[in-house]
Amino acid sequence: MNLICDYHTHPQGHEVRPYTIELLRPWIERCRARGIRSIAFTDHDRYLAGVDFGVLDSLRGQFPDVEILAGIELDNDPATSAGGLRWVEANWDRLDFVLGSVHFFAGETEMLDRVGKLEQFESRGLSGAFEQYVLELEKLISRGQIDCLAHLDLVKIHGLRPHDYDPAEFFLPILQLAKTAGLAIEASTAGWRKPVGEQYPHASILRAAVELDIPVTTASDAHSYVQVAENYDRLAGLLQSGGVTQPVTFHAHNWKYV
Ligand SMILES: [Zn+2]
Ligand SMILES: [Zn+2]
Repeated sequence: MNLICDYHTHPQGHEVRPYTIELLRPWIERCRARGIRSIAFTDHDRYLAGVDFGVLDSLRGQFPDVEILAGIELDNDPATSAGGLRWVEANWDRLDFVLGSVHFFAGETEMLDRVGKLEQFESRGLSGAFEQYVLELEKLISRGQIDCLAHLDLVKIHGLRPHDYDPAEFFLPILQLAKTAGLAIEASTAGWRKPVGEQYPHASILRAAVELDIPVTTASDAHSYVQVAENYDRLAGLLQSGGVTQPVTFHAHNWKYV
């Protein structure tokens, strides 16, 4: 199976770096080199000041062979996500694709996925942390204005899980909410770069999503152009064995099978 879409990328990295042709060109060249025919730029909404729809239009003119989706990763940051949500609402028609993600437990100002930072997990206990993570996902889904859930089981990032954790059973209620809300989920290679050493989401969650007919996108969560489509050969094998024979493409918030 050839995977031809990368729908989770961060050209700005972790700061505001306004979109220019120079910033974005290496990403498209990397797509060409790796056989990616459709890419979504999905910088974190806290860096929305750097997003420039005019630059994306120019880029589309220069690289007509690669589909370029205007996107954003909208999360539950207590400081910035309210503004991010307003921006997404105001720019919905110019955006093709909005990722929704949970990076924060309620009441915290530090992201839960900072590598090596385990205090938020120790204070909650692993079962408490996993349950609170899912509560935040429920809020994110009911808030709306998203197309696809990013790194669905991110809470496992540190390689820690409750002793009785069954991934598919634990996330089934979230998958059912996603199905009702018409959301896709992503299959992401980013977890292979993290302490957990496992893609997002767990294979059993992917299989449960397939059974529910939830559309699945493919993603690297690249923070540098060199990570575009990273580990896609491995991901293709995993999708095949999980029954995801048809990942989807997006355009103007609508998905279709590749
Ligand atoms: Zn994220
Ligand atoms: Zn991301």
